[in-house]
Parts: sequence; C-alpha cells; structure tokens
Amino acid sequence: MNISEQSRPVFIFGAGASANCGAPLMKEFIDRAEDVKFQLAENTRPSDNFDLVFDALESLKGVHSKSNVYLNNIEDVLGTFEIGRVINKIGSLSKKEIERLPDATKIVITKTLEDSCRFRRDNVHIVPNNESDYHGLLNTFESSGSTYIELLKKTTFITFNYDVCLDLSLYIKLKKNGWKMDYGLNEAIEHSSVKLLKLHGSINWVVCRDCGRVFPLDWATYLNDKKNVPPNEKKVRLNFMDLYHLDKYQFFRESECKRKCTGMVDNFIPAVVPPSWNKTDLSPEIKNVWRHAADAMASADQFYIIGYSLPETDSFFRMLFALGSEGRARMRRFWVFNPDSSAKNRFDKIVSESNSSAYKFVKADFQRAIRFLFRREDEHSEKFTEDENGVIILPD
Ligand SMILES: [Zn+2]
Repeated sequence: MNISEQSRPVFIFGAGASANCGAPLMKEFIDRAEDVKFQLAENTRPSDNFDLVFDALESLKGVHSKSNVYLNNIEDVLGTFEIGRVINKIGSLSKKEIERLPDATKIVITKTLEDSCRFRRDNVHIVPNNESDYHGLLNTFESSGSTYIELLKKTTFITFNYDVCLDLSLYIKLKKNGWKMDYGLNEAIEHSSVKLLKLHGSINWVVCRDCGRVFPLDWATYLNDKKNVPPNEKKVRLNFMDLYHLDKYQFFRESECKRKCTGMVDNFIPAVVPPSWNKTDLSPEIKNVWRHAADAMASADQFYIIGYSLPETDSFFRMLFALGSEGRARMRRFWVFNPDSSAKNRFDKIVSESNSSAYKFVKADFQRAIRFLFRREDEHSEKFTEDENGVIILPD
C-alpha cells in the first residue's frame, strides 16, 4: 500500500469479498434463500414473507419464458419486482401483496444472510470466523507495523454488501485499539473514527416505517446480549431481525421515533436498499452515507476495489465515483482485484485518461489481494505478468 502523510486509502467491497464468510453471491442468492425457507417454522414473520416472495417468483415464471428476466439472479428479480410495483402488476399477485412485496424482499434478504454467515465464539467474545478475509485484512494491517496501524485510522471502507462480516471484524479490531467505527449515518462523522460506509444499507440497521428514520443496532449493546453463547461454539449466527428490542438501545430511547411512532416490532424492517430500486425516497441517514462516500472518494489518493464486478445494472457506483472525482486529490492508485478478469472491460470505461497510470486490474481473489497489497518493499519486483488485455496475473 502507499504510505505517506497524505495517504487516504479507500477500500471498496462487493459481494465477492464476503463470499468466504458464507454470504451467497448474487447468482446464488435465490437458491440459498430457498434453502433457508425450507428450514423456517410456518406462520412466523419470516416464513410469511418468504412465501410471498416465492409466490411472486413463481408467478413471474410465465414472464420468464417469454423474456430475458433471469429468475436465479437476485438483481434481475429485484428490478422486476420494482417495476411490477410501479405498474401494479406482478403475475397473479393481488394489489395488497404487491404493496407488501418490497418489505418482504428485504426480510428475505436479511434472513438469508443471517443464516448464511457464521461466526464463532472464542473464550470471551463472539468473533468473525477465522477464515474471514476481512479479518485477515485487518490482522495484516495490525501485524505490518505502526505505520500501517496509523494508515488504518485514515482508511475508509465502502461496501455494497448488507452482511455484517466486515462490521464485526472492524468493530473488534478498533475497540482493541481504543478507536471507534462510524457508519456515517449522521451528518457529521465522529472525530477520529474509522468509516465503514454501507451504500446499500445493512442487515443490522432498522428503518421505521412511520418516520423513515434508520437506526443501527450498535455492536456493544448487541454483543452484550449474546454473552450467553457457550465458549468455543463454532457456528454462531447473528440474528438481528428476530430481536428488534429497540428499547435496549440508548439512541432509540432518546429518538423522536420512540416518542411519536407506533413502535410495534412489525413496524421496523431491515434497512437494506436493493441496488436496482428507486433511490429517490431514501431516508436522510442513507443519504448521509452516500455523501460521506463521495467525500471520501474525493479526498482519496488510493482505491482498492475487491470482489466488486461493477455490474452493468448498477450505474450507481459509476455516478458516485464521477461525482466524488470533482476536485479529487491526485490519484496514485486505482487497483481492482477480481478473480474474474472479464470485469476489466467495465472498469476500463470509468478510468479516465488523467488517471490511467494509477489503474491496475489484478486477477486475484481477496486473499491474494491482501498478499499483494502488503508485500514487502523488496518484493516490489515480484514477477507478475500481464495478459494481452492488460490483466495482471500473479505468480502462484
Ligand atoms: Zn419512527
């Protein structure tokens, strides 16, 4: 990594970065959701919502046979649901069911991720699974010496993922060093905290349907609740949705929402914002996250993009990146790590001539990206080759 006084690194993570925490990729999501559906007790809040989403999918099958909507790709499905809601027509669903569908989808996404990502308990704390690459990244920052620890303080993490694998790693690592993590939901970022900006929301944030406010379930309170998990338990699940006891959380007790809204558990839904959905009626908190992300991108000198394929359907990143680039400090690095080199074409398009010298596309998964980023100075000449499309291939 590039270390200097002015260093402001930004890491950007896509679905591929959470894969080894257990989170399904976009194209596997529906299958995984179906597995989760079969394990749910009937007539519970999650199971009713799964039923509705799978009814909607079933009724789209007719559409599917006549068009190019791929029902196993969650992004295509979400886009189709959104349009269906606008025109008020999704197969044989009633108007009421169509109205319920967006919230049901968010509950399905959340429950599927909750069930897919596993954590463990060591002697004292609930910790991310050792195999988590996020944990590996943060450990490497720590083991690489004090300059890297200082660099971590100035780093911004931006993610498109809803899961909490990075959140928990970062929370634990920062707490150990007496620092804080800030999700950027408020207008100002808390001084001397590391930013974790979740552009599409998070499964541990809830939104009130009455006032539209978003509340993160803070980690200290949440983990305190989990203290009865037996030591050395290896397959801990973090469930947020079943436990919306918001009164435990100080920020909620002091909020307008607590005083003015109905406060029923069912009135809170996970604050996740599917990529293809209409983004004009966002809560002020999510808008703050985006603003902070654009600010971080404007002041960043180095970008490391891991496990994000820049899908054609997601023009959002392109726009945010362009807006953030106005008045940007000199970009030293724009490095993309992806095991699938076909994503390079899409990244080529957003790199302008003025910063093309900073751009590298490296064919690598997360683990190899970490090794590449933290290699020693004398390893800089490490032999890597470039294929005919300019993709950097690392040695085995
Ligand atoms: Zn409210």
